[in-house]
Amino acid sequence: MLQVQKASSRAAARRLRQSASTQVGRWQQQRGIATPSEPYDAIIIGGGPGGYVAAIKAAQHGLRTACIEKRGSLGGTCLNVGCIPSKAMLNNSHIYHQTKHDIQRRGIDVSNVSLNLPVMLKAKEDAVTGLTKGIETLFKQNKVDYIKGAASFVSPTKVSVKLNDGGETEVEAKNIIIATGSEVAPFPGGSITIDEEQIVSSTGALALKEVPEKLVVIGGGIIGLEMGSVWSRLGAQVTVVEFLGGIGGAGIDEEIAKQFQRSLTKQGLKFLLNTKVISAEKKDGKVYIKTESAKGGKEETLDADVVLVAVGRRPYTDGLNLEAAGVELDNKGRIVIDDQFNTSVKGIKCIGDVTFGPMLAHKAEEEGIAAVEYIAKGHGHVNYHAIPSVVYTHPEVAWVGKTEQELKAAGVKYKVGKFPFAANSRAKTNLDTEGTVKFLTEAETDRVLGVHIIGPNAGEMIAEGVLAVEYGASAEDIARTTHAHPTLSEAFKEAAMAAYDKPIHF
Ligand SMILES: Cc1cc2nc3c(=O)[nH]c(=O)nc-3n(C[C@H](O)[C@H](O)[C@H](O)COP(=O)(O)OP(=O)(O)OC[C@H]3O[C@@H](n4cnc5c(N)ncnc54)[C@H](O)[C@@H]3O)c2cc1C
Repeated sequence: MLQVQKASSRAAARRLRQSASTQVGRWQQQRGIATPSEPYDAIIIGGGPGGYVAAIKAAQHGLRTACIEKRGSLGGTCLNVGCIPSKAMLNNSHIYHQTKHDIQRRGIDVSNVSLNLPVMLKAKEDAVTGLTKGIETLFKQNKVDYIKGAASFVSPTKVSVKLNDGGETEVEAKNIIIATGSEVAPFPGGSITIDEEQIVSSTGALALKEVPEKLVVIGGGIIGLEMGSVWSRLGAQVTVVEFLGGIGGAGIDEEIAKQFQRSLTKQGLKFLLNTKVISAEKKDGKVYIKTESAKGGKEETLDADVVLVAVGRRPYTDGLNLEAAGVELDNKGRIVIDDQFNTSVKGIKCIGDVTFGPMLAHKAEEEGIAAVEYIAKGHGHVNYHAIPSVVYTHPEVAWVGKTEQELKAAGVKYKVGKFPFAANSRAKTNLDTEGTVKFLTEAETDRVLGVHIIGPNAGEMIAEGVLAVEYGASAEDIARTTHAHPTLSEAFKEAAMAAYDKPIHF
């Protein structure tokens, strides 16, 4: 009797599997997606800036490509909850703040300036939707199959996908690229729980329904400073608590970081440096944040309406079932790769936030292109010495290459060339003169080793610095290159002149 029951339940399970796979087969056919019997040339897991760019590049190389993304929209962290929504809020909060506090001296009288936060949030959402849909169009144009679902390894060449619409399918390829990105790092020790309403991560901070009276930001890195700036401009009293002795995170030049802190302090942000947050407790509609000095002792309690936990991000590999493929992780949860993006398993590559290097969208994109080029042509290129960083506050801060403290520590003989925006005609004309361009060059050869900018449009201007580092330019090369007048970029040229010889206007 037991045998019969077992046999009939096995038959029922088989029928269920068959019907599910027929449904998936139909689903795949409707969407023009290959059935499991037709392996792809390349499968990309994750549709963020690393993954979607890799997918498009692979298709451009003639590889039959699928990109698996579980979020329900393409663009990853960057487009959905990162770069793009934060820049929409930064841009529009800057315009609001400028209209309210800076516009009269420009001869423009505006009365009754007020904030319409729902409309500002809607503008942010519209930017996100427009751009994520744009990637779907690019996928169609390039014939990339977009599979909406969560991927999980079955073997080194086979991936099972739990489809967002229900059901499951399996896809196969001899080349698989993992681009599953990162997630918000929880507060160390677990003493603070993010609820995305009162204690928020960057995701919650991008969608606050009202301006908090007091906002405490834990972490003075790029994301904390950008979000702190947004809500400060919109009217919140912002206090940034940072464990280290300076702001701006890893890679910022210390001199520029000090100038940056002075500038944000003038705008009304408060900084508690060398300070450690111990706990945050919700009580009577407020959050009470206990801090102590980083060295121990000197306890203090701050109160806030909202707390932003911005202590970093960590690689994301949940549900990937990497064990089934044998892909190795390091002790920080990053997927281990070699210099050609190969993981520990042949045929599986990895790019972006989920592996080594800075967690930046443009770094992930470059890696996506290079990883595909290794597959298609056997060679690719990413110069990790020439990856820019930008903080999109006002003034903006941007840098590429070495900092002065790094050169000192390495015992490199270097020269410094600086030029203030206060001496630049365009900055003066625009009434926007805060900041400096700083060049660091090799003393013996004049080669550009680092460029650090704080000032208006620093994020656009750094591209020239990146080019200089990429091509091994000297400061003289830049100093002898004509820059249009009157532009902010003349400050860039004059800083190069200062490094190699002398500037004209300062
Ligand atoms: C608030 C904020 C602001 C930022 N601003 C900037 C900025 O101005 N400039 C900049 O360069 N960077 C910025 N970043 C960082 C940037 O967003 C990331 O570096 C970038 O998104 C990394 O790209 P990625 O493709 O590696 O991963 P992600 O963008 O994280 O994409 C990974 C994708 O993989 C999907 N995925 C994961 N697991 C699976 C699975 N098993 N199956 C299917 N899909 C899966 C995820 O859903 C996700 O969509 C910001 C980040 C934040 C949070």
